[in-house]
Amino acid sequence: MPLEEYQNKRDFTKTPEPSSEGRPFPQPPLFVVQEHHASHLHWDFRLEIDGLLKSWAVPKGPSLVPRTKRLAVLTEDHPLDYADFEDIIPEDEYGGGTVLIWDRGTYEVQGEKPPAQQLDQGLLRIVLKGQKLQGGFALVKLKRAEENAWLLIKERDEYAREEGEIVTEQPRSVVSGHTYQEMHAQ
Ligand code: MN
Repeated sequence: MPLEEYQNKRDFTKTPEPSSEGRPFPQPPLFVVQEHHASHLHWDFRLEIDGLLKSWAVPKGPSLVPRTKRLAVLTEDHPLDYADFEDIIPEDEYGGGTVLIWDRGTYEVQGEKPPAQQLDQGLLRIVLKGQKLQGGFALVKLKRAEENAWLLIKERDEYAREEGEIVTEQPRSVVSGHTYQEMHAQ
């Protein structure tokens, strides 16, 4: 039951979130980053691996600056349909708050090993082809830290920058074009 933890946390009669997979996905695999205004603002970074969205909560959001290593906390797998989810989760439900699709696109795995094997070994290197995030990124599992703590790090390439915060410079949804504030003004 790969989605058991995801489904156990949610009451699908009350949340607009999808209950299971069903979205047909083309190759190459996709990634999505969802800005999530829950009790603590964070960005959910999700990669399609073996039919599920492997998910990390990134409190400060992804960065294009290689020296800015962002904590990424591994969370429960989400169904593929979640890549289309942009809505407001009722405040008293799990993860209650607004979810905005901040970036979405496809990715390629670097190296010969399949992504699930790289994850097991604590280092996954990918190339993102999104609208905001592009180029090489690494997810690195922290040793001697709590079980689920990883770092999300931009690799040095033509898309890397020396400064700036892409999450605040480009706040709009890549699907609706709305900002968080505009989602609430409708
Ligand atoms: Mn979240």
